[in-house]
Amino acid sequence: MLPLVALVGRPNVGKSTLFNALTRTRDALVHDEPGVTRDRNYGVCRLDEARPFVLVDTGGIAGENIHLESGNLAGATARQARAGAEEADLVLFIVDGREGPSALDEDILRWLRKASRPTFLVVNKTDGVDARAALAEFSRYGFSDVLAISSAHRQGLDELLAQVLAKLPADGDAEILDDDPERVRVAFVGRPNVGKSTLVNRILGEERMIASDVAGTTRDSVAVDLERDGRKYRLVDTAGIRRRAKVEEAVETFSIIKTLQAIEQCQVAVIMLDASEGVTEQDASVLGAVLDAGRALVVAVNKWDGLSDYQREQVEALLSRKLAFVQWAEAVRISAKHGSGLRELFGAIHRAHASATRVFSTAEVTRAVEIAYETNPPPVVRGHVPKLRFAHPGGDNPPTFIVHGTRLRTLSETYRRYLENFFRKRFRLVGTPVRFVFKEGE
Ligand code: GDP
Ligand code: GDP
Repeated sequence: MLPLVALVGRPNVGKSTLFNALTRTRDALVHDEPGVTRDRNYGVCRLDEARPFVLVDTGGIAGENIHLESGNLAGATARQARAGAEEADLVLFIVDGREGPSALDEDILRWLRKASRPTFLVVNKTDGVDARAALAEFSRYGFSDVLAISSAHRQGLDELLAQVLAKLPADGDAEILDDDPERVRVAFVGRPNVGKSTLVNRILGEERMIASDVAGTTRDSVAVDLERDGRKYRLVDTAGIRRRAKVEEAVETFSIIKTLQAIEQCQVAVIMLDASEGVTEQDASVLGAVLDAGRALVVAVNKWDGLSDYQREQVEALLSRKLAFVQWAEAVRISAKHGSGLRELFGAIHRAHASATRVFSTAEVTRAVEIAYETNPPPVVRGHVPKLRFAHPGGDNPPTFIVHGTRLRTLSETYRRYLENFFRKRFRLVGTPVRFVFKEGE
């Protein structure tokens, strides 16, 4: 399981600034696509790519005296965030190094003592002030792990990250799930009621003879192996999905942490949508998480059975508009209830996986860059033209290309997109994000 780190602290101490500094990926910074949203409370920190962890911003709701609204989404999110803090592998207690200790801090401190999770005291906003004096003000809180940082200026974040990683358990499932290179690891993700459990149970029902739980994985992340049309798959994170089918829970809380977990563990994420509801904000934030993780993507538009021809046309139009930013992903119309569209769905999963894990040679990648460059050189920037010289493959799932050249920093976003589309076409890549890393030098 991905470790969980919770940011706790009163309002205005800089939690969301720190959250953003730790979770904003390079990709998210480069292109913030219209249509994709990112959850402001939950994210994955990938500053160390080998050791991602889930970060939850409890948004100032963790104090004892702060009431949690019930019965609405904000209340549900708040309760989950609080529960997140209670289950966290590590809590970062954020305080304001400029204002010093406050009554609210102490309120939170009492709550933290009860929760008794491993906790670091993080004194923020220490830019331009005497960090040692700021730390000293909080010494009576009695923490042995204390750090002075400035989230806004990204000071002390490397040290913070190192300390956090030193404290976190390793993700034990990752290796176990990864043991069979022939198996395509698939996760079905989406908000509640889109039909995930109906689909998974139908798939497993049909394949009952050869489906089996993967031994050794933790109970909360049970994976199931199955074969279909002669291909091997591993459905990850089916525990919650399958259990739900048996026990009808009165209130279903959308487990964002579980979703992030499943996305992390898979190679291909199938995001399920409810055809009658279009693309909601929650759908868009699940999509954002898939893109941040760089996973291959298939969109399964479920409940296609319930629609008239006219409604279907409407839905098609809506989806092509709302999903324009992931045009490269295949969208498959399915009915989990009737089992229709499953062959197409698995075809799309297979194609996405094949693209995501395709092996490239340095020669073909360099050739592609040369042709892209010759057919359409980048425009002159302040009297100079950026030059792309050669390239080599830099990894798969997602396919990553390292491009060497000069003045690459000045390459426009438009040109980067052109390159991406050129590669997509030339190598017929479908269903996967594509990444470029630009390296300065001959
Ligand atoms: P939250 O309510 O705890 O999530 O706090 P925010 O992240 O929204 O930050 C509250 C205010 O503090 C904002 O105006 C931030 O710009 C500012 N702030 C956050 N981190 C720092 C920091 O490291 N140094 C300084 N000087 N200001 C900061
Ligand atoms: P989950 O929360 O994503 O796992 O969703 P469920 O599988 O529990 O499905 C939610 C509801 O949608 C249930 O009442 C299902 O019977 C219904 N449902 C699921 N798939 C379909 C479908 O393909 N067509 C129709 N009409 N209803 C469906």
